[in-house]
Amino acid sequence: MSKHIFVTGGVVSSLGKGLTSASIGMLLEQRGLSVRLQKLDPYINVDPGTMSPYQHGEVYVLDDGSETDLDLGHYERFTNSPLNKHSNYTTGKIYQSVIEKERHGEYLGQTVQVIPHITNEIKEAVEKCAGEGVDVVITEIGGTVGDIESQPFLEAIRQMALDKGKENVLYIHLTLVPFLKAAAELKTKPTQHSVGQLRQIGIQPDILICRTERSLSRDDRTKIALFCNVPVEAVIEEKDKDFSVYEVPLSLVDHGLDELIVRKLNLDRAGPLELDHWRELVRRLRNPQYELSIAVVGKYAEHRDAYKSIYEALDHAAMHHHAQIRIQRIHSEAVEQEGVERMLSGVDGILVPGGFGERGIEGKVEAIRFARERNIPFFGICLGLQCAVVEFARNVVGLQGAHSTEFEKNTPHPVICLLNEQKTITDKGGTMRLGAQPTVVTPESRAAEAYGNLDISERHRHRYEFNNQYRQQFAANGMIPAGTSPDGGLVEIVELPEHPWFVGVQYHPEFKSQPTRPHPLFAGFVGAALARRLARSERSLEENPLI
Ligand code: GLN
Repeated sequence: MSKHIFVTGGVVSSLGKGLTSASIGMLLEQRGLSVRLQKLDPYINVDPGTMSPYQHGEVYVLDDGSETDLDLGHYERFTNSPLNKHSNYTTGKIYQSVIEKERHGEYLGQTVQVIPHITNEIKEAVEKCAGEGVDVVITEIGGTVGDIESQPFLEAIRQMALDKGKENVLYIHLTLVPFLKAAAELKTKPTQHSVGQLRQIGIQPDILICRTERSLSRDDRTKIALFCNVPVEAVIEEKDKDFSVYEVPLSLVDHGLDELIVRKLNLDRAGPLELDHWRELVRRLRNPQYELSIAVVGKYAEHRDAYKSIYEALDHAAMHHHAQIRIQRIHSEAVEQEGVERMLSGVDGILVPGGFGERGIEGKVEAIRFARERNIPFFGICLGLQCAVVEFARNVVGLQGAHSTEFEKNTPHPVICLLNEQKTITDKGGTMRLGAQPTVVTPESRAAEAYGNLDISERHRHRYEFNNQYRQQFAANGMIPAGTSPDGGLVEIVELPEHPWFVGVQYHPEFKSQPTRPHPLFAGFVGAALARRLARSERSLEENPLI
């Protein structure tokens, strides 16, 4: 039988429950245990697929096509726990299932209620995630304790301790211990209150993880322990990291978290902690030998979480090359207004990420033209590929007014058009071409060189595609399909063989990059950008040896 860890959050949102849960998963895996991670989100959307990145950050896509919360990205970057549609449930998904059952007559005769029907459905969702032979299931509850909408989830996890036996269930509560400058003190009261709220609904947390900007003194920890009814060694500090999220697990280990969990859950199978490779990773991060700058030109530049996995994948590739990337988040509308030269000169690489909607498209097209003409390494992802195709059509092939039909229904040259399978679809939720699809890579392309393999599988999330009618015309002008679906029907990768590194992909490689295993295309792109950077600094040294 699997053991369960439930991670809740108190005081404020955005405390990093996802990162903390992922770190716990990683530490248990590195002690030889098998883990599964899961997130329960209290909002009513069935999944985040229909939400704007401004609302919710990026939508993270799994192999099975589930559109999920971005915290699942942390889970996949930190652990090898397989994720699927059972890894993310929302209130909407839980209610949808209960209402469908009610319509099928599964509760005939009964009044369907939050307790027990909704709570049972939530418990089933947790069980579905467990599966055979899994040692520990870590379930993160979204939102903040005290929110009205998270109550059924908290009630369900309270019941789990009764169902499974308290020795098999662990409650970890993440809170904030703020530092008040005026009093020059850390304040424990908000933590006391949020634990008080949990206890009111019948959950006594076993471990408190305290987010703080200053170290907690022994006195602070003793006070929290006393007021919150936990042993003092179960008050764990998680100090703000100004350096990198990959340091979080190391600091949790320093405060004894893995050992505490193993002891409290009696995880006899746990072996010694194996963290050498992770420590090496953090060492590399802290001691870069090179620096380079990459511009990410998108529509949601000001929102830190909108391109989360892309920023992370760039960092993984940087670590691989012993480099540090200064990521310049550039709004594509600023390129339109301020001019491309002003916004992009001096960068070593340009990446255009995925997206929807017409705003800022011309800025992306301009940025791509700049990359192509100046031989700056370019990486286009999903909408980024589509914009690269539009740019090439207009400026190289000579197809005036070429566009994607997503933005210009009546364009004379629809070089990007709706996928056939999408033509009859009107519903918006979960209806794109989603999830893992095989791609056959063209030998001797940049992609083939990066992957070292011609059969790959990558995750998709789109409705539009390269219009096959233009394939030959494009190839004759120098843009080749460097990867297609196995039947050859869909273009999945485009490249300019004459350019130092110009690759566009219709899929989302950022979702499969891990710090310990950077994605080959990100590694290739960053490698090319670094080569350009080094060549340029050598040149400037020759021209001006005093630099
Ligand atoms: N809007 C484009 C499409 O639907 C690109 C999608 C994306 O970048 N994820 O095809």
